[in-house]
Amino acid sequence: MASKEGLLFGTAGIPLSSKAQSTKAGIERIRELGLDCMEVEFVLGVRISSQAAEAAGEVAAKRRVKLSAHAPYYVNLNAREPEKVAASRQRILQTARITSLLGGKSIVFHAAYYMKDAPDRVHAAVKENIEQIVSGLRQEGNSILIRPETTGKQSQFGTLGEVLQLSAEIDGVAPAIDFAHLYARTGAVNSYNEFTSVLRKIEGTLGREALDDIHIHASGIEYGPKGEIRHLAFADSDFNYIELLQALKDFKVNGMLICESPSLEEDALLLQRIYREL
Ligand SMILES: [Zn+2]
Repeated sequence: MASKEGLLFGTAGIPLSSKAQSTKAGIERIRELGLDCMEVEFVLGVRISSQAAEAAGEVAAKRRVKLSAHAPYYVNLNAREPEKVAASRQRILQTARITSLLGGKSIVFHAAYYMKDAPDRVHAAVKENIEQIVSGLRQEGNSILIRPETTGKQSQFGTLGEVLQLSAEIDGVAPAIDFAHLYARTGAVNSYNEFTSVLRKIEGTLGREALDDIHIHASGIEYGPKGEIRHLAFADSDFNYIELLQALKDFKVNGMLICESPSLEEDALLLQRIYREL
């Protein structure tokens, strides 16, 4: 499980400077830029054919660009209506199937909204649905990792503790750690000591393997009393990315760091350069 590739830097979606807005062109552009990974964004729906996914997967393998994918935003495993929960499960399954054709190893998603329910009730609903999703995928021979993300709004299920608990409880589930969201949600988690305490908590709950195959989102962020308002470029925000990079370096964290800033590849390259210089 341990990755020998170190920490790879890439973008959330196709780089803005890509010649064409296709996954394939995006992968080529990632390689030209000297980045090493890309998260394919299915946030508005899984809109790629199986053939196109397989073709893009071949390019990714050839160019040694590691891929992951982000499932649609329209997911709520705690929706009131059973048909909305079923549709949410389908969107996650669909993302997992297409990502497997892309050669990706994990998918990221926002699991649920609290809908004013008690957090442990929401946890139980999310857990049951993720267990169904994972067992369905395994029956299809799909071994993809399902990564619930730490979310930025207080109305969204997905604190660090909640995401780590699911990861500990269900085989095939691992965390997606969005540091901008952790910051926006709490107003804390923006210093070296706070970043290392997150890393210690991950290691303490899931073991060293979790730090050897981490999945991180990072960007600047604007937030208010209810949490996340919008993502910002690092230059426009007070997010302490240098101390985050130092913490990741000191803990010898391996895996993928996906930049979600509006200055997409510029900020991914900025993080990669600073990380290498530390
Ligand atoms: Zn996300």
